[in-house]
Amino acid sequence: MSPESAPSSEPRRLLLATTNPHKIEELRAILAGFPYELVSPNDIGLALEVEETGTTFAENAILKATAWADAAGMLTLAEDSGLEIDALGGEPGIYSARWAGEGVSYEERFRILLGRLADMPAERRSARYHAAIAIARAAPIGVLGLFEGTLEGQIAFAPAGSGGFGYDPIFYVPEQQRTVGQMSAEGKHLISHRARAAAAARDLLRQLAETPANEPQPDEGN
Ligand code: IMP
Repeated sequence: MSPESAPSSEPRRLLLATTNPHKIEELRAILAGFPYELVSPNDIGLALEVEETGTTFAENAILKATAWADAAGMLTLAEDSGLEIDALGGEPGIYSARWAGEGVSYEERFRILLGRLADMPAERRSARYHAAIAIARAAPIGVLGLFEGTLEGQIAFAPAGSGGFGYDPIFYVPEQQRTVGQMSAEGKHLISHRARAAAAARDLLRQLAETPANEPQPDEGN
């Protein structure tokens, strides 16, 4: 192996392309064992608004990963996620972050959602968390991989717990007889949609960490 192609002993940098502090915290914990220095947009002084015009989590993850990779010129991981409630036709879905209106508190969203599910028995309260993770380099390379993960559960009859973020207090996991809001951070990362999508991305991330940036990338030229 020539010195140029030998993997550097410096950890590769991976941009976690999100401005949601909860997602950054969770992704840092989930990806802790990976051979990367994980950096946030704040860490590199970069601000970017990416319009989420996709119609699926996957499309939005790709939009975000490619836009941030182009802006930062770095290997980038972006994630798009949300809650799908079957009885509401998949709502809030890709609109989870802004569902019921920009700036509306989660307490208020819980009140609205629980109201719409009032009187529905447990078996009609099925829901899932869905996460799509896209990994990209700046153009002309673009998307290197797309990975998805889900966590099945039910909408609780009342909020419980203060762990996690977002909809966690009303997302009940029957096997554990508690909401995600009642789980420890470590407990959530063992089963979460985000952790499952990241686990699916593990092989590609490891391969990329070992590939010098000026070498052909693992899925190029196929
Ligand atoms: P995004 O930033 O457009 O991907 O929207 C993600 C939104 O989905 C978050 O702001 C939450 O409302 C919801 N969400 C995604 N993952 C979780 C989670 O792990 N717990 C609770 N809510 C989540």
